[in-house]
Amino acid sequence: MRKSRLRRVRAAPLEVVWVNMAVTPEKALRLPRCPHCNAADPYLGLKTNFVEHDSQGNEKTWGIYVCGRCAGVVSAHWKAKGSFQSFPKLQQAVASSDIPERPRAFIQEAMGEDKPHSTCLLLASALDAMLKEKGLVTGSLFRRIQQATEGDAPLFTKSMAEWAHDIRLDANDHRHADPNAPLATMADARRLLEFTTMIAELLYVLPARVERGRAAAPVTEHATTLSR
Ligand SMILES: [Zn+2]
Repeated sequence: MRKSRLRRVRAAPLEVVWVNMAVTPEKALRLPRCPHCNAADPYLGLKTNFVEHDSQGNEKTWGIYVCGRCAGVVSAHWKAKGSFQSFPKLQQAVASSDIPERPRAFIQEAMGEDKPHSTCLLLASALDAMLKEKGLVTGSLFRRIQQATEGDAPLFTKSMAEWAHDIRLDANDHRHADPNAPLATMADARRLLEFTTMIAELLYVLPARVERGRAAAPVTEHATTLSR
Protein backbone atom coordinates (compact mmCIF):
# COMPACT_ATOMS: atom_id res chain seq x y z
CA MET A 1 0.00 0.00 0.00
CA ARG A 2 2.74 2.39 1.03
CA LYS A 3 4.86 1.34 -1.89
CA SER A 4 2.15 2.01 -4.48
CA ARG A 5 1.50 5.46 -2.99
CA LEU A 6 5.17 6.31 -3.18
CA ARG A 7 5.21 5.29 -6.84
CA ARG A 8 2.19 7.37 -7.66
CA VAL A 9 3.78 10.48 -6.19
CA ARG A 10 6.96 9.86 -8.12
CA ALA A 11 5.10 9.11 -11.34
CA ALA A 12 3.15 12.32 -11.19
CA PRO A 13 5.61 15.07 -10.31
CA LEU A 14 3.19 17.78 -11.43
CA GLU A 15 0.83 16.77 -8.68
CA VAL A 16 3.65 17.20 -6.16
CA VAL A 17 4.46 20.66 -7.53
CA TRP A 18 0.85 21.70 -7.21
CA VAL A 19 0.75 20.47 -3.58
CA ASN A 20 4.04 22.25 -2.82
CA MET A 21 2.51 25.56 -3.76
CA ALA A 22 -0.19 25.10 -1.16
CA VAL A 23 2.33 25.65 1.66
CA THR A 24 4.58 28.64 1.22
CA PRO A 25 7.01 29.43 4.02
CA GLU A 26 6.54 32.95 5.28
CA LYS A 27 9.33 35.48 4.76
CA ALA A 28 9.90 35.92 8.47
CA LEU A 29 9.35 33.46 11.27
CA ARG A 30 7.41 34.86 14.20
CA LEU A 31 8.73 33.53 17.49
CA PRO A 32 8.49 35.32 20.85
CA ARG A 33 12.18 34.59 21.45
CA CYS A 34 15.22 33.39 19.55
CA PRO A 35 15.97 29.81 20.69
CA HIS A 36 19.71 30.59 20.41
CA CYS A 37 20.26 34.06 21.94
CA ASN A 38 16.89 34.36 23.71
CA ALA A 39 16.34 37.85 22.21
CA ALA A 40 12.71 38.90 22.46
CA ASP A 41 10.82 39.44 19.17
CA PRO A 42 13.82 38.42 17.04
CA TYR A 43 13.88 39.15 13.32
CA LEU A 44 14.16 35.68 11.77
CA GLY A 45 14.43 36.21 8.02
CA LEU A 46 13.91 33.45 5.45
CA LYS A 47 17.21 32.37 3.85
CA THR A 48 15.99 29.46 1.79
CA ASN A 49 13.12 27.02 1.51
CA PHE A 50 12.60 23.61 -0.04
CA VAL A 51 10.35 20.56 -0.04
CA GLU A 52 11.48 17.10 1.03
CA HIS A 53 9.60 13.78 1.06
CA ASP A 54 9.67 11.15 3.74
CA SER A 55 9.88 7.40 2.97
CA GLN A 56 6.10 7.28 2.56
CA GLY A 57 6.07 10.06 0.01
CA ASN A 58 4.62 12.66 2.37
CA GLU A 59 5.99 16.07 1.60
CA LYS A 60 7.47 18.46 4.08
CA THR A 61 7.93 22.13 3.34
CA TRP A 62 10.91 23.62 5.13
CA GLY A 63 12.05 27.19 5.65
CA ILE A 64 15.49 28.06 6.95
CA TYR A 65 15.64 31.29 8.96
CA VAL A 66 18.50 33.30 10.44
CA CYS A 67 18.29 35.43 13.59
CA GLY A 68 19.19 39.06 12.87
CA ARG A 69 20.87 39.36 16.23
CA CYS A 70 22.94 36.19 16.76
CA ALA A 71 22.94 34.67 13.23
CA GLY A 72 21.58 31.45 14.74
CA VAL A 73 19.71 29.19 12.31
CA VAL A 74 16.13 28.13 12.94
CA SER A 75 14.38 25.65 10.66
CA ALA A 76 10.62 25.55 10.35
CA HIS A 77 8.40 22.80 8.98
CA TRP A 78 5.40 24.60 7.49
CA LYS A 79 2.14 22.71 7.75
CA ALA A 80 -0.11 25.50 6.48
CA LYS A 81 0.07 29.27 6.23
CA GLY A 82 0.80 30.52 9.74
CA SER A 83 1.15 26.99 11.13
CA PHE A 84 4.63 25.64 11.66
CA GLN A 85 6.86 23.63 13.90
CA SER A 86 10.29 25.18 14.49
CA PHE A 87 13.64 23.70 15.52
CA PRO A 88 15.46 24.02 17.81
CA LYS A 89 12.49 24.03 20.13
CA LEU A 90 11.80 27.24 21.94
CA GLN A 91 12.47 26.47 25.56
CA GLN A 92 10.46 28.07 28.30
CA ALA A 93 13.08 30.41 29.72
CA VAL A 94 14.35 29.13 33.03
CA ALA A 95 16.07 31.32 35.60
CA SER A 96 19.44 29.84 36.51
CA SER A 97 19.59 27.67 39.62
CA ASP A 98 22.72 29.64 40.57
CA ILE A 99 20.47 32.58 41.51
CA PRO A 100 19.33 32.37 45.15
CA GLU A 101 15.82 31.02 45.65
CA ARG A 102 13.92 34.23 46.42
CA PRO A 103 15.16 36.44 43.54
CA ARG A 104 15.02 33.41 41.23
CA ALA A 105 11.34 32.93 42.01
CA PHE A 106 10.61 36.59 41.10
CA ILE A 107 12.65 36.37 37.87
CA GLN A 108 11.01 33.08 36.90
CA GLU A 109 7.57 34.53 37.42
CA ALA A 110 8.50 37.66 35.41
CA MET A 111 9.72 35.43 32.55
CA GLY A 112 6.26 33.89 32.23
CA GLU A 113 4.33 37.13 32.81
CA ASP A 114 2.63 38.79 29.86
CA LYS A 115 1.45 41.97 31.60
CA PRO A 116 4.03 44.78 31.54
CA HIS A 117 3.07 46.35 34.88
CA SER A 118 3.22 43.07 36.80
CA THR A 119 6.53 42.26 35.12
CA CYS A 120 8.05 45.60 36.22
CA LEU A 121 6.97 45.04 39.83
CA LEU A 122 8.31 41.47 39.86
CA LEU A 123 11.66 42.62 38.49
CA ALA A 124 12.05 45.33 41.12
CA SER A 125 11.31 42.68 43.76
CA ALA A 126 13.94 40.41 42.16
CA LEU A 127 16.52 43.21 42.19
CA ASP A 128 15.71 44.05 45.80
CA ALA A 129 16.00 40.38 46.82
CA MET A 130 19.34 40.00 45.00
CA LEU A 131 20.83 42.95 46.87
CA LYS A 132 19.48 41.71 50.20
CA GLU A 133 21.08 38.32 49.49
CA LYS A 134 24.36 40.22 49.11
CA GLY A 135 23.94 41.63 52.61
CA LEU A 136 22.52 45.05 51.67
CA VAL A 137 19.49 44.86 53.91
CA THR A 138 19.01 48.36 55.31
CA GLY A 139 17.01 51.24 53.88
CA SER A 140 15.17 51.54 50.60
CA LEU A 141 15.93 49.92 47.26
CA PHE A 142 17.38 53.29 46.20
CA ARG A 143 19.80 53.15 49.14
CA ARG A 144 20.69 49.51 48.43
CA ILE A 145 21.57 50.34 44.81
CA GLN A 146 23.76 53.23 46.02
CA GLN A 147 25.46 50.94 48.55
CA ALA A 148 26.13 48.41 45.78
CA THR A 149 28.38 50.95 44.03
CA GLU A 150 30.35 51.83 47.17
CA GLY A 151 33.29 50.28 48.99
CA ASP A 152 36.52 48.64 47.84
CA ALA A 153 34.78 45.84 45.97
CA PRO A 154 31.52 47.34 44.68
CA LEU A 155 28.91 44.92 43.37
CA PHE A 156 27.79 47.32 40.62
CA THR A 157 29.62 49.35 38.06
CA LYS A 158 28.16 52.79 37.28
CA SER A 159 26.28 51.37 34.26
CA MET A 160 24.84 48.50 36.28
CA ALA A 161 23.63 50.97 38.91
CA GLU A 162 21.91 52.95 36.13
CA TRP A 163 20.13 49.75 34.97
CA ALA A 164 19.17 49.01 38.55
CA HIS A 165 17.71 52.50 38.96
CA ASP A 166 15.78 52.02 35.70
CA ILE A 167 14.22 48.86 37.13
CA ARG A 168 13.47 50.62 40.44
CA LEU A 169 11.96 53.71 38.78
CA ASP A 170 9.73 51.73 36.43
CA ALA A 171 8.32 49.77 39.34
CA ASN A 172 7.84 53.01 41.32
CA ASP A 173 5.82 54.47 38.45
CA HIS A 174 3.42 51.55 38.64
CA ARG A 175 3.44 51.15 42.39
CA HIS A 176 2.51 54.78 42.97
CA ALA A 177 0.39 54.94 39.82
CA ASP A 178 2.17 58.13 38.70
CA PRO A 179 -0.40 59.84 36.41
CA ASN A 180 2.39 61.48 34.38
CA ALA A 181 4.41 58.31 33.82
CA PRO A 182 3.95 56.74 30.39
CA LEU A 183 2.38 53.28 30.52
CA ALA A 184 4.95 50.51 30.19
CA THR A 185 4.74 48.31 27.12
CA MET A 186 5.73 44.66 26.87
CA ALA A 187 8.86 45.85 25.02
CA ASP A 188 9.80 47.97 28.08
CA ALA A 189 9.11 45.01 30.36
CA ARG A 190 11.31 42.71 28.24
CA ARG A 191 14.14 45.27 28.26
CA LEU A 192 13.95 45.41 32.06
CA LEU A 193 13.83 41.61 32.23
CA GLU A 194 17.00 41.54 30.16
CA PHE A 195 18.68 44.04 32.54
CA THR A 196 17.58 42.07 35.60
CA THR A 197 18.77 38.73 34.24
CA MET A 198 22.09 40.34 33.28
CA ILE A 199 22.51 41.66 36.82
CA ALA A 200 21.69 38.16 38.13
CA GLU A 201 24.26 36.70 35.71
CA LEU A 202 26.95 39.09 36.91
CA LEU A 203 26.16 38.75 40.63
CA TYR A 204 25.48 35.01 40.82
CA VAL A 205 25.64 32.94 37.64
CA LEU A 206 29.09 33.88 36.32
CA PRO A 207 30.83 33.69 39.74
CA ALA A 208 29.24 30.24 40.29
CA ARG A 209 30.48 29.08 36.88
CA VAL A 210 33.98 30.36 37.66
CA GLU A 211 33.90 28.48 40.98
CA ARG A 212 32.83 25.28 39.22
CA GLY A 213 35.58 25.80 36.66
CA ARG A 214 38.17 26.26 39.40
CA ALA A 215 36.88 23.20 41.26
CA ALA A 216 37.23 21.15 38.06
CA ALA A 217 40.69 22.54 37.21
CA PRO A 218 42.84 20.37 39.55
CA VAL A 219 41.39 17.22 37.95
CA THR A 220 42.36 18.45 34.48
CA GLU A 221 45.87 19.36 35.66
CA HIS A 222 46.27 15.94 37.22
CA ALA A 223 45.07 14.22 34.06
CA THR A 224 47.48 16.30 31.95
CA THR A 225 50.40 15.41 34.23
CA LEU A 226 49.56 11.72 34.07
CA SER A 227 49.37 11.74 30.30
CA ARG A 228 52.87 13.20 29.95
ZN1 LIG B 1 19.29 34.89 18.07
